[in-house]
Amino acid sequence: DLSIHDLVKRFGKLTALDHVSLEVAQGSFVCFLGPSGCGKTTLLRVIAGLEEADGGSIRLGESDLSSIPARNRNFGVVFQSYSLFPNMTAARNVGYGLECRRWDRPRMQNRIKEMLDLVHLADQAEKLPSQMSGGQQQRIALARALAPDPSALLLDEPLSALDAKVREELRIEIRAVQKRLGITTIMVTHDQEEALAMADLIVVMSKGRIEQIGTPQQLYREPATAFVADFIGRMN
Ligand code: ATP
Repeated sequence: DLSIHDLVKRFGKLTALDHVSLEVAQGSFVCFLGPSGCGKTTLLRVIAGLEEADGGSIRLGESDLSSIPARNRNFGVVFQSYSLFPNMTAARNVGYGLECRRWDRPRMQNRIKEMLDLVHLADQAEKLPSQMSGGQQQRIALARALAPDPSALLLDEPLSALDAKVREELRIEIRAVQKRLGITTIMVTHDQEEALAMADLIVVMSKGRIEQIGTPQQLYREPATAFVADFIGRMN
């Protein structure tokens, strides 16, 4: 499990994370949900090791992540805007992390094929990002993040740049892939409908604090605060 205890993160006078604690169970799909500026991205970035916390701890299983640099945390990360390398084919993008880890060629080729099959894009292997749709690019980004067999998947608004129809398809596809691999996944979103549709557990945040943690059903039926009731009730 991923254990976050009493995390604090400040940017100058602003407290972006104000004593945040939570547990993410192995194999679960958790959404960090809240309005712009609530600290959800900062929380994900601190977990990823892209931002340093000012206090608190993060543990994954037995290991304390606080002193482990981002590149050694073994998380797969997907951001909102397609961060694929524009001059590399889909296959090379997927293999990038494996190349960095010096996998030998046959093993790497096998893994690239396996990952392209997983996201149903085997026929796009030789395409450049500019020759693919936004949805296809995000599926390649997902395949690239998963290729090195990370211990968890961290998704930062991965669907928000996509149009509604593609977004809907990708919600289903991301969950299917996540369940198939059984990989612990955290997704940041400002879209309550998306969180309700996808998450096992939702962490609702406001002003750097956790308002409520619950299943979609719990949040919908028994919101703990007026903020949660209002935010969850307000569908886009
Ligand atoms: P959004 O969806 O708009 O990104 P968010 O809920 O993810 O919102 P964060 O990006 O985590 O919120 O930001 C939380 C607060 O911290 C905001 O007030 C933001 O302006 C501030 N903040 C985030 N990163 C930095 C930074 N590098 N320097 C200064 N302030 C920052």
